[in-house]
Amino acid sequence: MNETDKNTTEKTTTDFLRTRIREDMASGKYEKVLTRFPPEPNGYLHIGHCKALCLNFELASEFGGHCNLRFDDTNPIKEEQEFVDAIRADIKWLGFDWGEREYFASDYFETLYGYAVKLIEKGVAYVDDLSAEEIREHRGTLTEPGRPSPYRDRTIEENLDLFTRMRAGEFDDGSKVLRARIDMASGNINLRDPVLYRILRAHHHRTGDAWCIYPMYDFAHGQSDSIEGISHSNCTLEFADHRPLYDWFLDQLEIHHPTQIEFARLALTHVMLSKRKLRQLVEDGIVTGWDDPRMPTLRALRRRGFTPESIRDLCTRVGVAKKNSTVEYALLEHCLREDLNKRANRVMAVLDPIKVVIENYPEDQSDELEAVNNPEDESAGTRTVPFSRELYIERSDFMEDPPKKFYRLSPGREVRLRYAYFVTCTDVVKNDAGEVVEIRCTYDPETRGGNAPDNRKVKATIHWVSAKHAVDAEIRLYEQLFTAENPNIVPDGKDFTMHLNPESLTVTNAKLEPSLANATADFPVQFERTGYFIPDSVDSKPGALVFNRSVSLRDSWARMQKQQAQQGQKAKA
Ligand code: ATP
Ligand code: MG
Repeated sequence: MNETDKNTTEKTTTDFLRTRIREDMASGKYEKVLTRFPPEPNGYLHIGHCKALCLNFELASEFGGHCNLRFDDTNPIKEEQEFVDAIRADIKWLGFDWGEREYFASDYFETLYGYAVKLIEKGVAYVDDLSAEEIREHRGTLTEPGRPSPYRDRTIEENLDLFTRMRAGEFDDGSKVLRARIDMASGNINLRDPVLYRILRAHHHRTGDAWCIYPMYDFAHGQSDSIEGISHSNCTLEFADHRPLYDWFLDQLEIHHPTQIEFARLALTHVMLSKRKLRQLVEDGIVTGWDDPRMPTLRALRRRGFTPESIRDLCTRVGVAKKNSTVEYALLEHCLREDLNKRANRVMAVLDPIKVVIENYPEDQSDELEAVNNPEDESAGTRTVPFSRELYIERSDFMEDPPKKFYRLSPGREVRLRYAYFVTCTDVVKNDAGEVVEIRCTYDPETRGGNAPDNRKVKATIHWVSAKHAVDAEIRLYEQLFTAENPNIVPDGKDFTMHLNPESLTVTNAKLEPSLANATADFPVQFERTGYFIPDSVDSKPGALVFNRSVSLRDSWARMQKQQAQQGQKAKA
C-alpha cells in the first residue's frame, strides 16, 4: 500500500459520518444501525449511485446492522419494472445482499395518505386550487418572501372533504394540490408551504390505477425512512436544505425520527452522471444503449470489463466528505488495473499487425512454447503458444530508420520474441507506395524460451502471434465519451452533447493467440504490453470474436501522483 492509499483508507474509517453514528449508538439513541439504499426505478444504476450503495451497505455491516433496499417509486410517469429488475441484478453483481429487506415506497401509499389526513386534522395542511404556475409565482425568491395562497385559510372540514374527493377522482389532473401550511416567509424556500400531493391519472408500475393522487418525493422520502425504522438516513448534500422540512413532517406526525446525514455526491472527470441526460444519450442513439461500454452505468462498466472489486475500491478510496469535489476518472482506471494485475491472465494479441517471416525456420514446421499465465499468481499455471515461420508483430514495434532511443526491431537489430526466440531483422518488403508490408528475419534456435546460451543480451522483448494459428478479432478501443472535464458546463443555448468526443470509439482488427478462440465474457485478460480486454458480452461469439478494451496499461493516475509528490518535495526544498 502506498502513502495515498493509506491516507484514503484511514480517512474513511474516521469520517464524520461514522463518528456521528458511533455517538448515536453510544448515547442509546437507536438500538440498531439500519440504513437504506433508495433508488428511483427510472433508469439504470451508475457509478455515482455506487457511492451511496457501498456506503449504506458497508455502514450496516460495520455496525452489525442491516441495509434496506427501497425502491423510491412515487413518480408513476418514469418508472418501469425493467429498471427494478436491473437495479436488483446490478446490486447483486456489486456484491451486496439485502436478503428479505426489499421495500417499495408505493407500499406506503395508504400510510402516507393517512399522514396527510393527520396534518389536515391538525390544521397544518390545506387543499389549494392555484395552478402550478400560480404556486410558483406566489413562492417568492431567495430575496423576497412568498405570498399566501387565497385558499390557505380553508377550514379543516373543507380541507378534509376536498382531499377525500381528490382521492376519489372528482377533480381534474393538476386542478388541486395538498400543501403543508408552514411559513410563506421562511428563509428556506422548501418550507414555503410545499406541495404534498398532486392529482395525476397515471398508471403506476405496482399500484396500477388504484390511485389518482400521488405523494411528492419530499413528503414520501422521510416518512418512508421513518416507517422502516431507519436509524441513519444518509443522503447527498443537496438534501441538507430539505432536512428542516423532513424534521417538520416527523415532528408534526410524531413518528420515529431517523438521523439524516449529508455527504458529497460522487463526480468523475469527463463523466455524465445524470440519469436524465444518460437517457437522452440512449434515446437519441448517441450510444447503443444503457450498457454501451462508454456509459457510466454498472451495466456498461461490467460489459467494459470493470470488476465489482475495482468499483468498490474506488468508493472506499474516495471516502465521504462534506464538500463536493470531482474525482479523476484515472483513479477508477487505476483501481481496475490494481485488481486485474493480480487476477487477469496474460495472453499475446497483436492489435495493429504486420507480417514477419523467419527465413531460416522451416515452412512446414511449428513449435509449442511454454508461456506463463500470470506472473503475479503462480497458481494460474502455464499454457503453450504455437510458433511458426510466419508471425505477426505490432507495426509500432518496427522502425526502418529508428531514432536513438528506439530499441525494438529494426534492420540488423536483434530482439527477443516473448517466450520464444531471439530474431534479427535482415530485410523488409515494401509496397508500391514505399511502405513496409513485411519484415524478414532470422531466428537463433539456441535461444528457445527466450535466453541465449552465451548470455548475450537484447534490449527489447516484443509480443507476437503465429500467423497460421492466429484467431481474428474485432477490437473496440474506448476513450472518454466527453472531451470536457465537466460536460455539464455549457454556454447559453448549447447542451451537454456539444462535449461529445467523436473519437470515443475506435474499431480495429487484431490477431490473437489461439488460446483465445473460445474466450467468453467472464473476466478480462491482459493483452501483454497493451492493456486489459474482455470479450463483448453482447456481440462476441466463437468464430467472430469481439473484445472491448477495459483499460490500457498506462497508469496516468500513478503518474499524476508521482508528479505531485515530486512537486511537493521541490516546494519543500
Ligand atoms: P440522478 O440525478 O442520476 O437521477 P438521483 O439521485 O435522482 O440521481 P436516485 O435513484 O434517486 O437517483 O438515487 C439513489 C441514491 O443514490 C440516492 O440516495 C442518491 O442520493 C444516491 N446518488 C445518486 N447519484 C449519486 C452520486 N453521484 N453520488 C453519490 N450518491 C448518489
Ligand atoms: Mg432522485
